[in-house]
Amino acid sequence: MKVIDIIREAERTGKTRFTFELLPPLKGDGTGAIFEAIETLAPLDPAYINVTFHREDATHRRRQRPGTVGISAAIERRFGIETVPHLICGGLSKYDIEDALIDLHFLGMHNVLALRGDRARGEARFSPHPEGHAHAEGLVRQIADMNRGQLLDRVTDCQSTFCIGVAGYPEGHAESPSPDEDMANLKRKVEAGAEYIVTQMSFDNGAILDFIARARNAGIEVPIVVGIKPLATAAHLEILPSTFAVSLPDELVSEVRKCRDNASVRQVGVEWATMQARGLRKAGLPIVHFYSMGRTDNIRQIWEGL
Ligand code: FAD
Repeated sequence: MKVIDIIREAERTGKTRFTFELLPPLKGDGTGAIFEAIETLAPLDPAYINVTFHREDATHRRRQRPGTVGISAAIERRFGIETVPHLICGGLSKYDIEDALIDLHFLGMHNVLALRGDRARGEARFSPHPEGHAHAEGLVRQIADMNRGQLLDRVTDCQSTFCIGVAGYPEGHAESPSPDEDMANLKRKVEAGAEYIVTQMSFDNGAILDFIARARNAGIEVPIVVGIKPLATAAHLEILPSTFAVSLPDELVSEVRKCRDNASVRQVGVEWATMQARGLRKAGLPIVHFYSMGRTDNIRQIWEGL
């Protein structure tokens, strides 16, 4: 089933659902931990599961977490839960991307989250593959073309049916000169063929709802899936703002600083995310996405707490 149909169904029934993300296993690891993480949440009926995509690092030119296509298909087969592989531009030519899309099509997958990816470790700024895309917009166009049977060097009758999602940034993307320009670029991705948006994590429902209002004012009408992250360790106070260009509310920071160990931080994170999810549900948003990064016990606690 396409994500857009899952979202429309949630909107129609007025029942907010949740999604979460998993990382493909490190090279050499098996599927055990991932399947276990899904088993924890499967009884709570997640709307779908995202699987991240990891580029190679610039120093070794090696990928530590390959296998997004394979693990996505394996999850869908085993659990019967719709799975959304992420696909990035970073480090890949358009031909590499086309190959991955053909694999996904053959595997019967219907969804892709189209992203640019970040700069490779060791690089000062994002630089596209010489035969690749500089922005997610180009990737969206490539997937939309493929859905019409247009491959890079030929036209075919064998058309894919991918529902395309893209990323949006309530607090602005780190490289963007202004919120308005960021919004204009987001609109470009939608005009290129994206059917829904997933937001970067934010710890502030006010900022999230303001972003949605600004998107609607800018003429973006597609559904917006909101991403939240349950804080889990004290180190997140430094890591999350610097890695994802997000701010942390003073109240949350002060609660975390009072904690004596990470078990207590985790509990603060659960309580904050529960409060956010409750507010987003009240605001009538169809889907709340959890940046679980592979750990699902706290997601279970949050969703059951609602
Ligand atoms: P883009 O949409 O290309 O935007 C990047 C920057 O360029 C922005 O500043 C934007 O304003 C600007 N821009 C966009 N289009 C244009 C244009 N046409 N002309 C000029 N400027 C433009 N990273 C991974 O490596 N793997 C993942 O699995 C992954 N999953 C993610 C999931 C979500 C929900 C989110 C929010 C992020 C994810 N990321 C992932 C991180 C993402 O790759 C980075 O945030 C990256 O820096 C930007 O990706 P993007 O798709 O938003 O890029």
